[in-house]
Amino acid sequence: MEKKVAVIAGDGIGPEITREARKVLDKVCRKYGHTFIYTDVLMGGASIDVHGVPLTDEAIETAKSSDAVLMGSIGGNTSTSPWYQLPPDRRPEAGLLKIRKALNLFANLRPAYLYEELKDACPLRPDIIGDGFDMMIMRELTGGLYFGERRTVTENGMRKAIDTLTYSEEEIRRITVRAFDVARKRRKKVTSVDKANVLDSSRLWRQVVEEVAADYPDVAYEHMLVDNCAMQLVMNPGQFDVILTENMFGDILSDEASMVTGSIGMLSSASLNDTKFGLYEPSHGSAPDIAGKDVANPIATILSAAMMLRFSFDMDEEADAVEAAVKQVLREGYRTQDIMSEGKKLVGTAQMGSLIADRI
Ligand code: NAD
Repeated sequence: MEKKVAVIAGDGIGPEITREARKVLDKVCRKYGHTFIYTDVLMGGASIDVHGVPLTDEAIETAKSSDAVLMGSIGGNTSTSPWYQLPPDRRPEAGLLKIRKALNLFANLRPAYLYEELKDACPLRPDIIGDGFDMMIMRELTGGLYFGERRTVTENGMRKAIDTLTYSEEEIRRITVRAFDVARKRRKKVTSVDKANVLDSSRLWRQVVEEVAADYPDVAYEHMLVDNCAMQLVMNPGQFDVILTENMFGDILSDEASMVTGSIGMLSSASLNDTKFGLYEPSHGSAPDIAGKDVANPIATILSAAMMLRFSFDMDEEADAVEAAVKQVLREGYRTQDIMSEGKKLVGTAQMGSLIADRI
């Protein structure tokens, strides 16, 4: 199969970690007989330095004409980098919001998976961890409170701020359909998280979830209030398969879920639209403190590339092979600095990428 991949290396450790992900994808191509055609796209600080803006219209067009986008990370040291002297809409992160909007990436997927080999990094007690956990947080990304009307007014000498939380039936339906589709590729359970005891938007959310669920008799589903979900994530994370939720709840819960895995360098993510197109990037930032030192963990980006194979290219076998190679390398005791523990073998960014590629 031939696929076009736009690569946004970005800033900080971005170029190092995307290079390793490409190394792994190249091995997938050799082994399974695929061809991936890469186009480099500038975004974030790297684009500001060349074009004066964090994302050009040409860059968006290149992304749109590709089958998927693989991204490292963007941004610099927010206290010292000159990029942060620019107005907010010209700073590196503005590029990210612009591309999400331009590509209509409404579904954000963040897996939280506890590797047996990295159990020690998990902040939860062993009796809570049990046999581990493996969940996918699916967050609506382009609606809700973050995109509603907002204003600050002064009434009778008192300042008042207003944010509005709006969801249309259509916005809820498309992410719900995605969540049930993803659950079908996993353990077939969806937990829809809302605040239906208080919010109208949540009551509509529940109704639409139930309508969609009727089309998926093979997938079990339940509703859970967001405050309860926040507790359940640290009390019994093993109960979850797919967690489906709106933008702000998802923002908070996905960080909570990923942090209970304890390893920021291992966490992948995908943002999808209503076609097969997606943008794939690690959950972490550009880590300017360790950039260029060959110490960054490339696994989150490599696992994001595996998500690209699975969700944009329908290459499930190839995605399984990448994930299995990551597990094998960890089992053999190789660790980058961020996940290092006593008695293990310390390797750099490039060597970690090569070890994983070799095991495919
Ligand atoms: P960060 O995630 O870059 O770093 C937090 C800490 O984790 C640092 O100590 C860093 O060294 C470490 N770390 C992160 N990724 C690692 C990896 N792969 N291997 C080993 N260690 C790793 O968060 P930050 O320092 O708050 O942000 C730095 C920059 O990244 C900022 O400009 C921020 O805006 C940007 N950022 C970008 C994105 C994105 O592109 N989607 C996301 C988050 C932050």
